[in-house]
Amino acid sequence: MNEAFLTQLLQAIPLAAVLIGREERILAANDEGRQLLGPAIVGRHFLTAIRHPAVLDAIEASLHDGQQRRTRHLTSQSGKDLTFDVTASRIDLGTGHGVLVCFDDISPVEQAGQMRRDFVANVSHELRTPLTALLGFIETLQGPAKNDTAAQQRFLEIMQREALRMERLVRDLLSLSRVEAEERVRPTTPVDLAAVAGSVLRTLAPLAAENEVTFDYQGPEQGLDVPGDEDQLRQVLTNLVENAIKYGGRGHAVTLRLTPVEMLTAVNGPGLEILVADEGRGIEQVHLPRLTERFYRVDSHRSREMGGTGLGLAIVKHIVTRHRGRLRIDSEPGQGSRFTISLPR
Ligand code: ADP
Repeated sequence: MNEAFLTQLLQAIPLAAVLIGREERILAANDEGRQLLGPAIVGRHFLTAIRHPAVLDAIEASLHDGQQRRTRHLTSQSGKDLTFDVTASRIDLGTGHGVLVCFDDISPVEQAGQMRRDFVANVSHELRTPLTALLGFIETLQGPAKNDTAAQQRFLEIMQREALRMERLVRDLLSLSRVEAEERVRPTTPVDLAAVAGSVLRTLAPLAAENEVTFDYQGPEQGLDVPGDEDQLRQVLTNLVENAIKYGGRGHAVTLRLTPVEMLTAVNGPGLEILVADEGRGIEQVHLPRLTERFYRVDSHRSREMGGTGLGLAIVKHIVTRHRGRLRIDSEPGQGSRFTISLPR
């Protein structure tokens, strides 16, 4: 079997692959194999070309007894951690034994696993705090505060607040998983966004009054249709306006503006721009790209104090993506924050 034929054969394998042949030298490699191990590995002894102890052990063991070996190989390329599932299989080359080594890049699977573990850890942590508080107060009510009616009243109020926090967290988690499940299906029912905006502002009026915030609505009262899912678009506006009230500062205004746009460059067609702006303390540049990550908060203490779950903007991002729109966040410390959504019409 000549080298050109073997290289062709390796080229057909959809993994990084190298073939070790006579005198334990690399006989052939495909493009992915050369990319992973170096451009000039063909002809070199495998010990100098591969250099990863676990992989070398697998090759030697397979050469020795003819059994296939599997191992893990961790490396990093341009600052990214990569994990490979490596198989070493002895083959008969006619002139002697060789070993085919295949490197299967399982980094995306590993990454997804890590994300899932982080997510579970985050959810558990978020639930544990209110739960610990509840258990503590129950114990106090059963013991030291058994006959103290005034203390009981106070503790029940705190318990209610903590239970409501857990309820909000579970509700947001369910919304997030529902939106994620539907993300591939673009909604098509016409939704009057102006009417939705009016109803969101009416619902949030008591919260605004509590925080001495005034609304500045700029847009028509009705008649701004976009293809969408009404409940989800309501949730987008609610989350953004609620954040603007919470983080916008007492006594300031919150703007909600709806503008039809002839040509949205982001979507290359007609659309609608939604702006939610506040006059609060703003957000530092470094945080902006991470705000839509689940549980990412600039100031965890402040967010929790305001009853936040850290999931609001993650939900917004997923809903906007489902509607094939874009979300842009502009902010500077001291200059307030502007959340702009472009939706195709
Ligand atoms: P939370 O429930 O904590 O409000 P979100 O996902 O809605 O979670 O927001 C994530 C974080 O982004 C918040 O904790 C807050 O630090 C920051 N943030 C969101 N909206 C604003 C805003 N209008 N002004 C300043 N910071 C904001």
